[in-house]
Amino acid sequence: MIPVTKPYLPNRNKLNEYIDSIYECHWLTNNGPLVQELSRRLEEYLGVKNLLLVSNGTLALQIAYRALGINEPVKGKQAEAITTPFTFIATASSLKWDGIQPVFADIDPQTWCLAPENIKAAITPQTRAIVPVHVFGNACDVEAIDTVAQKHKLKVIYDASHAFGVNYKGKSLLEHGDASTLSFHATKLFHTGEGGAIVFKRKEDLDRAKKMINFGITGPETIEELGINAKMNELQAAMGLCVLDEMEGNMNARAEIWANYERKLAGSVQFQKISENISYNSAYFPVVLDTEQKAIEIEKKLKEIGVWARRYFYPSLETVRFLNGQNQQPVSHDIASRILCLPIYCTLAISDQDKISKIVKEQSVKTSE
Ligand SMILES: *Cc1c(COP(=O)(O)O)cnc(C)c1O
Repeated sequence: MIPVTKPYLPNRNKLNEYIDSIYECHWLTNNGPLVQELSRRLEEYLGVKNLLLVSNGTLALQIAYRALGINEPVKGKQAEAITTPFTFIATASSLKWDGIQPVFADIDPQTWCLAPENIKAAITPQTRAIVPVHVFGNACDVEAIDTVAQKHKLKVIYDASHAFGVNYKGKSLLEHGDASTLSFHATKLFHTGEGGAIVFKRKEDLDRAKKMINFGITGPETIEELGINAKMNELQAAMGLCVLDEMEGNMNARAEIWANYERKLAGSVQFQKISENISYNSAYFPVVLDTEQKAIEIEKKLKEIGVWARRYFYPSLETVRFLNGQNQQPVSHDIASRILCLPIYCTLAISDQDKISKIVKEQSVKTSE
């Protein structure tokens, strides 16, 4: 069976050494030595400051909302955040879970990221924040979004779950916005089994968030504010340290697979337009077919040979009932209905890549009956 993605398993002996060190110092969680080490090394690797490790990418979003105060009501009414309908459910459901109404704005038909002009049109007196997603690791139009945010005094929290290691104009993409969040779930490019991180623009927001992830406790006998448990533990950090050591090989292998697919499929399908001035991380390989029927047909044909391509992100989130999405989002709806993500992970054999490309290519040119 060929899954759409496969968790990266690092060198076992190295992981054992870290586990030995955990046994030696008997420290399992609460900002232990491995969490501190991973935090330092990630700041260095990504070229960022004010990075906070947390237990998963969903809590990373929720802690960022709270640290920046965007869950506070506006004149007694529920706060709103403008976000994209073309993303994993957690971006929007985390807002809702924290009492913030997600308000959808449509995406750009080429980059599939939130279109700045649609953000402007969705602003109301209740809007506190913009929560864009660097979808599939492609950079949002960060400069235009910054301009809108400044003009309307809105906070910006990027869901950068897919954007690990992506640079924009030679610097980390994660530097944009008041905060950017990462997911280190097993299926993500860089992972800690489960885990995540927040990169804050300002140190004071980082300091507030540090308290929040440990129940608001600030000393043996002091509880300063409302908090929750969102700490990363030492076993997660051990996995992360091992995976980080092997990132270069992992990224190179993916880049080759990405280029091979692109070469084989050029002209047959629509690709995501990668934003200018970025170094891309080859995290996903999405293709868009002419019709929904073709996407479904190809998914089926691939399954017959044991390949699990996935229709994501489908459905477009304005159709998810409990989110109370207000408006139709025609671009997102259209792309979501015709998209398919092809398998990409560093041990995917070239013969399998070719088998997959061949089926996609054959089926994409076939006229529907
Ligand atoms: C994976 C993902 C999340 C959630 O991260 P978890 O670590 O699984 O909680 C949030 N947003 C996006 C866009 C994701 O892909």
